[in-house]
Amino acid sequence: MLQRYGGKSRLSCKMMAEEWMFTATWFNRHFLREQLTAGREIVLVGKWDQRRMQLTVSESEFPDQGAWRSGTLQPVYSIGGKVTQTWMRKTMTQALEQYGDMIPEIIPHELIKQYHFLPRKQAIATIHQPQDTHEGQLGRERMVYEELFLFQLKMQAFRALNRGRMDGIVHTVDNKTVREFVHRLPFELTDAQKKVELEILHDMRSPYCMNRLLQGDVGSGKTVIAAIALYASVRSGFQGALMVPTEILAEQHMRSLERMFEPFGITVGLLTGSVNGRKRKDLLASLQMGMTDVVVGTHALIQEDVFFRQLGLVVTDEQHRFGVNQRGVLRRKGYNPDVLTMTATPIPRTLAITAFGDMDVSTLSERPKGRIPITTYWVKHNMMDRVLGFISREVEQGRQAYLICPLIEESEKLDVQNAIDLHIQMQQSFPAYRVGLLHGRMTPAEKEEVMRSFYDNEVQLLVSTTVVEVGVDVPNATLMVIMDADRFGLSQLHQLRGRVGRGKHASFCVLIADPKSEIGQERMNVMTETEDGFEVSRRDLDLRGPGDFFGTKQSGLPEFRLADMVSDFAVLEQAREDAAELVSESSFWTSPAYTLLREYLQKEQIFQGDLVD
Ligand code: ADP
Ligand code: MG
Repeated sequence: MLQRYGGKSRLSCKMMAEEWMFTATWFNRHFLREQLTAGREIVLVGKWDQRRMQLTVSESEFPDQGAWRSGTLQPVYSIGGKVTQTWMRKTMTQALEQYGDMIPEIIPHELIKQYHFLPRKQAIATIHQPQDTHEGQLGRERMVYEELFLFQLKMQAFRALNRGRMDGIVHTVDNKTVREFVHRLPFELTDAQKKVELEILHDMRSPYCMNRLLQGDVGSGKTVIAAIALYASVRSGFQGALMVPTEILAEQHMRSLERMFEPFGITVGLLTGSVNGRKRKDLLASLQMGMTDVVVGTHALIQEDVFFRQLGLVVTDEQHRFGVNQRGVLRRKGYNPDVLTMTATPIPRTLAITAFGDMDVSTLSERPKGRIPITTYWVKHNMMDRVLGFISREVEQGRQAYLICPLIEESEKLDVQNAIDLHIQMQQSFPAYRVGLLHGRMTPAEKEEVMRSFYDNEVQLLVSTTVVEVGVDVPNATLMVIMDADRFGLSQLHQLRGRVGRGKHASFCVLIADPKSEIGQERMNVMTETEDGFEVSRRDLDLRGPGDFFGTKQSGLPEFRLADMVSDFAVLEQAREDAAELVSESSFWTSPAYTLLREYLQKEQIFQGDLVD
C-alpha cells in the first residue's frame, strides 16, 4: 500500500519470513513499489516493532540483483553521501582497536555497580560490534543511561548552583494540622497519594520556590492532592489559587473544594469569564483584602485587575491546556509563590518539562483501590441496536452514560454523528429518562445547568461533544459511548474514557467506528488493548512518528543520540534521581572521583550560569 502526504510517502507491504507474516514499511521510497512483486526474495534491515509485527526498513536489497554482503550481525550507520556502510564499519573497527583502551569511565563507580552496567569502553565496543543482540542490548542500555545521566547532571547541577538565590515562601503548617484535613476525607489516600503529599509538603515548607509537576493518569486522584496543598497554604496564612482550562471544571473543583474546606472555615471563590459585574467586583476586593482564602478559576484569574493579599500557592490543573506564559502570569501575582502543576497527559509537554529538568516531577503511579478496570469494546455502526440495549441496561441499574459526538450539528462535508441529532434520537429511544445536551456553542450558564443536572443524576444520558473531555468527575457514570471514534486522537480517546471508571461500579467504554484508514483501525486496537495512559501515549507516538508528534524542532526538546524520550522515559527519571542525589552530596564538588564529571560540567558551561530554561 502506498500513501502520500505532503511531499512524502509511506510504502507498506506484507512479507513472509519463513512462516512469519509481518509488514515492512518504507518512507519516501515509493519507487520500490514496482519491484515488490509477489514471491520475490528481499533482504531487509531496519527497526523492528514486535508488537505490531512491523519493520521500518532502512536498507533493502534484492538478492537476485547481486549478493548480500554480510550474513552476521552488522551495525547500520546513519550516513550518507560518499561514506559507505563498509567503509564506516572498517574505520570503526580500526578506531576501537587503536584507541578503545583509552576510553575513560565517566559514570560514578557506585552507579555502574548498582545497575550492573558494562564498563564504558566495553559498552561502546559492543554497540558497534555486538556478538549477539543481547550483548548489543547491554551496550545500548549503558549508553542510553549515560547520555541521560549526563544530561540530567547538567540540569541538576545548574539547579543546585542557583538554588541559594531563591527566596520562596516558607509554609509553616504542621503535620497535625494536615492530618486533621486528611482524616476528614471520605476515603483513605493511596500509597502513591501519600508519597506525593509528602513531596509537596516538603517543598512548600522549604524556603525554595516549589516548581513541581504532578502527573497521574486520568482518575488517579490528583484533585485531592491539590486540595491538601491549598489547605496547607491557607493554614500557613497564605492564599491559594487553582487555575483550570474550562468553566465546567472550575465549577466542579469549586464545589468539591467548598465541601472539603467548609469544616475548617476556609472560604473559596470562583472566578471565570461568566462571573462579572457586582459579583466579580466583590470577589476581587475580597481577594485583595485576603478575605477569600482560595480562588478557583479559568484564564479569568490572570486578568490584570486581579490582586491577592498574600498568594502562597498556585495550582494549575490539566496544564497541557495552558501555555507556559499563562502559568507565569498567575505566579507573578504573588511574591515567589510555590507552584504545583498537574497533568494527566504524560507527553509531549510533560516530557519536555521532565527533560529540561526545570521542574520536579511527582507521579501518581496507582489508582485508588477497588476500581474495576474499564472494559473497552470497539463495534461497527451496524451494531448500534446492541449498543442501545447496553445503554438501557446501565441506566436501568441506576447508572449514567456519556455519548460523545465529533460534531455539534450536521455538516455537509463530514458524514459523522452530530450531537444535536443524536440528542433527539436518544430522547426518542429513552423516553423514560432525561437526556442532556452539552456542547461548546451553549452559553456558560446553560452548560453549567446541564452539568449540574448530570452531577445530580437528574439527567441520566449526556450527549456531548468533547467539552467534557478534561477532568469532569461523575462517579456514577459508568458508560462512555464514543460515536465515530476514529475521528478522535488517541490521547483524546483516553481522556474521554477516563470520565468513567471513577466509582465502585464496573465501567465500559464503547467505541463506535468503521475506520477507513489503517491508523484509525490501529487506534481502536490500542484502546481495546490497554488502559494505561503511558502505554497509550507511547503507541500514539509509534503511530504518528516522532516528527509529527512533537512538531519536530519547534518542540524545543533536546535531541539525544541514543536515548528515546518516550520509550526510555523510566531511565530518564532514574537518571534524574541519581543525578540529583549526586549533586546534593558535597563530595561531588570536591572528590577526585568525580573530576571527569566536573570537567564535563565545566565544558558545558554550567558554572557561568548561561544555561537558561
Ligand atoms: P484525576 O486525577 O483524573 O483528576 P480525580 O481527582 O478527579 O482524578 O479523582 C477521581 C475520583 O477518585 C474522584 O471521584 C475522587 O474523589 C476519587 N478519589 C481520589 N482519591 C481517592 C482515594 N484515595 N480513594 C478512593 N477514591 C479516591
Ligand atoms: Mg482532574
